[in-house]
Amino acid sequence: MHVCLVSLKVVSRNLLCGSTRYVHLSALRATSSNMPPVEPVKTKDGYDYDFVVIGGGSGGLASAKEAASLGLKTAVLNYVAPSPFGTTWGLGGTCVNVGCIPKKLYHQAAILGEELSDARKYGWEFSETVTHNWSTLRQGVTNYIKSLNWIHRVSLRNAKIDYFNMEGSFEDSHTVKLTNASSGEVKTITSKWFLISVGGRPTIPDDVPGAREHAITSDDIFHLKNAPGKTFVVGGSYVALECAGFLTGLGYDTTVCLRSIPLRGFDQQMANMVADYMEKHGTKFQKGCVPSSVEKQEDGKLLVTWRNTQTGETNSDTFDSVLFAIGRHALTKNLNLDAVGVKTDAKGKVITDDEERTSASHIFALGDVLVDKPELTPVAARTGRLIARRLAGTSTEKMNYDLVATTVFTPLEYASCGLPEEEAIKRHGEANIEVWHSFYKPHTFPIAEKSNEHCYIKYIEDLSNGNKIIGMHLVGPMAGEIMQGFAAAMKCGMNRKQLEETVGIHPTIAEEVVKIDVTKRSGVDPTCAKCCG
Ligand code: FAD
Ligand code: NDP
Repeated sequence: MHVCLVSLKVVSRNLLCGSTRYVHLSALRATSSNMPPVEPVKTKDGYDYDFVVIGGGSGGLASAKEAASLGLKTAVLNYVAPSPFGTTWGLGGTCVNVGCIPKKLYHQAAILGEELSDARKYGWEFSETVTHNWSTLRQGVTNYIKSLNWIHRVSLRNAKIDYFNMEGSFEDSHTVKLTNASSGEVKTITSKWFLISVGGRPTIPDDVPGAREHAITSDDIFHLKNAPGKTFVVGGSYVALECAGFLTGLGYDTTVCLRSIPLRGFDQQMANMVADYMEKHGTKFQKGCVPSSVEKQEDGKLLVTWRNTQTGETNSDTFDSVLFAIGRHALTKNLNLDAVGVKTDAKGKVITDDEERTSASHIFALGDVLVDKPELTPVAARTGRLIARRLAGTSTEKMNYDLVATTVFTPLEYASCGLPEEEAIKRHGEANIEVWHSFYKPHTFPIAEKSNEHCYIKYIEDLSNGNKIIGMHLVGPMAGEIMQGFAAAMKCGMNRKQLEETVGIHPTIAEEVVKIDVTKRSGVDPTCAKCCG
């Protein structure tokens, strides 16, 4: 027993260092009683497992835990290849390690900086010099992420799920090969069903000389030992704007290189409001531009040249860091999908039916590897749980990808649920929708002398279908916290009358949604002249 405990401690320490190695619990038990390792028991179908999950991120872990809880013998494979910059991390996937979680914490750090200056107006007195220490923040974030890695590892063990810190690729229909790149260890396991939940990684362009050698991505920014300094951010969507937002908020000179529109796919009135707010609060924008090259200079600084795609004009400047946030590619290349007949599109995303079944009927896929589905953690996790329930035969429910709320965590957050105004017009016709809108004044703004120019809400009513609310959009502080409840109501089919009858909670921002009484069609001024409480 003593030996067993010592072995577990060794495993724990490795986990905290992010260098998890698979150790089968039966091997630990055998060590304790000096017995030879027990041969794994086959399933009733003659496989090693009922369900093997390739990719231990948001979707894979949720699916594996659900499957195991419903009695399926389950294994999870998770392997992280270092980024070109050399960053690597532990169990939990993109969200936990290099996505939602660190992003939200850096966003919070930036918000706190803004609130420090608000605090003075609220009577707090402290030294005029306020500085931010990147290392302290990074260390706090890293420690928190390590605790999440550990919790995931322990929860797999508690659920009796076998975990392999190895890269998986298909060998034949029911066999995956597991490889540990650092130790060279290779083994195979068999399963009745498989889940492809390998997610994606940021794309670095091959046509921008110097980008691959010198630039970083969202895989690196949250783990940089040294502060990024003056930063050039390429891209105009979620990742680019969120990173540029918190970098500006933390005091770094930040430029966004935006080749077309901000936040493609989102309501463009709202997207432009978000970008405009950022521009007015210190983020620089090079609009209509793409980078041409990144060169490292003798002093270590990066000389970036960029070109305006309309005028052909070129510009250059030196930066401490260059961050590419131009989208992500699915990690399907090394899975040997041809061996099992799983079809992908030209970009390597997996094609599935409406039950997330691939072209090989016993192989499923979810999350960021799917074609044209929201790339969001709660979507991947719910899809994974539903797949597991269907396989275990406890439910036939399919994932419903409609009315998924999301938030862009820019300095002023933008939350949305349902259709953008442009899309609502396209689908239903302008005559069949009513857009209700309003600027609003958060009650906390006036004392802090903050402008409410960008605090705006709109929702879209479908006049042709029971006056249902088919889109809602909110820019403002804590927009994400506000939208979740309205998304639940929209899921229940809330119509305009029900929203109007809802009594607000005063004084909140959320109450502004239920108070809106101006339509765009009326032409009445939606600005806040009458905002008085
Ligand atoms: P992942 O979480 O990416 O997990 C896949 C795992 O599989 C990874 O660990 C990978 O290393 C591993 N793997 C890959 N290939 C193999 C293989 N062959 N063998 C074994 N393992 C393999 N979503 C939100 O909802 N809210 C947010 O605020 C948010 N912020 C984000 C911020 C950033 C910067 C980024 C990049 C993403 C953000 N997302 C956010 C998106 C969210 O992180 C993803 O949608 C989610 O992680 C997708 O889950 P997944 O299970 O599909 O894949
Ligand atoms: P996206 O694919 O959403 O956006 C890519 C951006 O990069 C676009 O603005 C695009 O411009 C631009 N771009 C593409 N190629 C180039 C190029 N060669 N040169 C210059 N610009 C280029 O990628 P993201 O990485 O921002 O996000 C990936 C996904 O991650 C999102 O779809 C989202 O689901 C998820 N995510 C979610 C978050 C959240 O929930 N808060 C936060 C972050 C990510 P153009 O429009 O012109 O094509």
